[in-house]
Amino acid sequence: MGKGGFQCPYCGVGCGLVSVRVNGNGKTPLVDEVIPTPLKVRADKNHPANRGLICLKGVTIPQTLDKNRLTEVLYREDIESSFKRISWEEAYNLLAEKFKSLSPEEVYFYISGQLTTEDSYVINKFAKGFLKTNNIDANSRLCMASAVVAYKKAFGSDGPPCSYDDLEDADVFLFIGSNAAVAHPVLFNRIQRSRKPDTVVVTVDPVETETVKKSDFFININAGTDTVLLNSVLHLLYKKGWIDWDFVKNYTEGFEKALEEASKYPPHVAAKICGIRERDIELLAYLFANAKKLVSFWSMGLNQSVNGVAKNLALINLHLATGRLGDRGCPFSLTGQPNAMGGREVGYLTNGLPGYRDVSNERDRREIETLWGVKGINPKPGAVITDAIDLMLEGRIKLLWVVGTNPAITLPRLDKVWRALERVFLVVNEAYADADTLKFANLVFPAQVVPEKEGVMTSSDKTLTFINRQVEPPPNTKPDWLIFTEFAQRLGGEKLFPYRDRGEIFEEFKKTTKERLCDISAFDERDLPKRWGGKHLYRQGEGWKFKTESGKAKFHPTPWEVADVDKDLWRERGLENLLEEDEFILTTGRLKNQWHTMTKTGKSELLMKTELPPFAVMHPKDAAALGLSEWDVIRITDGEREIYRVLFLRRIKRKHIFTYFGYPLWYTDTPTNLLLEDRTDPLSREPDLKFRRVRVEFVEKFPLGEG
Ligand code: SF4
Repeated sequence: MGKGGFQCPYCGVGCGLVSVRVNGNGKTPLVDEVIPTPLKVRADKNHPANRGLICLKGVTIPQTLDKNRLTEVLYREDIESSFKRISWEEAYNLLAEKFKSLSPEEVYFYISGQLTTEDSYVINKFAKGFLKTNNIDANSRLCMASAVVAYKKAFGSDGPPCSYDDLEDADVFLFIGSNAAVAHPVLFNRIQRSRKPDTVVVTVDPVETETVKKSDFFININAGTDTVLLNSVLHLLYKKGWIDWDFVKNYTEGFEKALEEASKYPPHVAAKICGIRERDIELLAYLFANAKKLVSFWSMGLNQSVNGVAKNLALINLHLATGRLGDRGCPFSLTGQPNAMGGREVGYLTNGLPGYRDVSNERDRREIETLWGVKGINPKPGAVITDAIDLMLEGRIKLLWVVGTNPAITLPRLDKVWRALERVFLVVNEAYADADTLKFANLVFPAQVVPEKEGVMTSSDKTLTFINRQVEPPPNTKPDWLIFTEFAQRLGGEKLFPYRDRGEIFEEFKKTTKERLCDISAFDERDLPKRWGGKHLYRQGEGWKFKTESGKAKFHPTPWEVADVDKDLWRERGLENLLEEDEFILTTGRLKNQWHTMTKTGKSELLMKTELPPFAVMHPKDAAALGLSEWDVIRITDGEREIYRVLFLRRIKRKHIFTYFGYPLWYTDTPTNLLLEDRTDPLSREPDLKFRRVRVEFVEKFPLGEG
């Protein structure tokens, strides 16, 4: 990696980037100089994640750094009043008084996969080690919680078994519930670049996405039915005699029960439920059986579901049944955020502790208590964020501290969320003055973003990258680890939070990983990027040893669950015949040039140039049946809440309607998650943000040419 580079702060691909200083005539780039003016960035050709590739979001990072930044600490007693500027000292004192008046369980922290490892580590230690509350969750709950649970159930740990080194020599790639061409573009481009004549790319999606357009095969599936499809493939593999019995017998357990569940979905049954052809199922079974190396990728399409863990496990079952691990393939969960993996390492969800430990495990607690020099870490996992919203509405959580995320747009049931945010004393660490959550804030700390601050992040494939500071941060801003360190010291935590600089935090964190799966204790941050766990985690000699009690990977039965629609009627009639003419399944996803709630990417003129007004997509035949045309403004409603979108017609599964999940309030009054329910997968507690039965109706013609 080029000296002095940094990791892109957007998606989990974790691209290495470097700064370029433009000389006097604007032509000769001098690479790797720190604090260049003006900042320009390009890909690091030596970084293992991207090998010289970059996407438009990465290129435009500099355009997002200097607009609408917060540079003052702001306070107001209640949200009807205006903010006034106060000093850091005043803010810490005021907040310390608040904390002293509350019990630990009345306080809640909601943090982010966009923070550095050092930021997350300090905040997690502050909550779990100092206050002794596990009331801390991260936006990763909305992102990869289902993948974490599934990996743990199948492999005994949520360490992904694969790496980016698995990309170039695979001949079959399966994208399911992932629009990687848009959400993880550099990874997708790496695959496109290394394509050989016999490479096959298959995408399973309800929508004809960018990924679909560049695939060889498109399985246009009904939303919410991935478990059915994958069960059916397992059933067919068995029927065809395509199970890798050597692998199954030597390295796995539980196959029979998984097969029993799968056999409820023979291809003719599954095809009807999924709205696909039987030969789509045969294609997948054939590829799993006959590929040289098959890598499957997934992200929110599998994770954000009431059936999220089962969807993940059903896919992993196929890899186990065909021995597709290591040099023969891998199931690869793509993390949405740049440091979701670092968050896993520091254990920043409600149940985690550093070094892939769990609060409910006594030995894990004792080890961390010894390392931190504390006693009494709470053994009970804290409330997940959707439950915490209810507790706020009941008045049982009174103070919420949000760090580096925008729950006023991203959480489901926004009507409830907004009421909850109004009810609590809301503290927000935020870099941008127009972030939606600030509308509800009482106290705002001006924060720094990458690449204004140093730190470490971990990509989807477990590679740690050091972020060298590239530009001076705006005046009067601080990194999140420093805000929490200073505040903890104010509360009497000098001994636990003695840090004089970020490097001391990273060194302390490293110790918590010693002899753990994610052991980075011997890593020197000057040698990053570096991956933990090797190319293939769990590989032992010629065989496999997993982190389960028996050392074998586990199959799991994966029953199909879905909300809003009667499963038996669906199985009998098919989805299309169940819904009335104006009824649709709402599903959500990404925009090509925007990232999450547009707080950063929305500030780039280049990225905004091609943005349409907030829109939704439906199939032309469904639109015709309702008398709708392109550029009609439509109302999408569940009967209680509604959103408004401009209609476009595209190839999408019949009776489905798609919109972007992250439209902020400055772009529309009706963000998408007003309509999404706060129901969750029972195991991962990840909300279902991809499936909602709604009605659609015409409102007016969009006023083209005006304004
Ligand atoms: Fe950044 Fe992801 Fe684009 Fe890489 S692919 S430059 S990590 S947004």
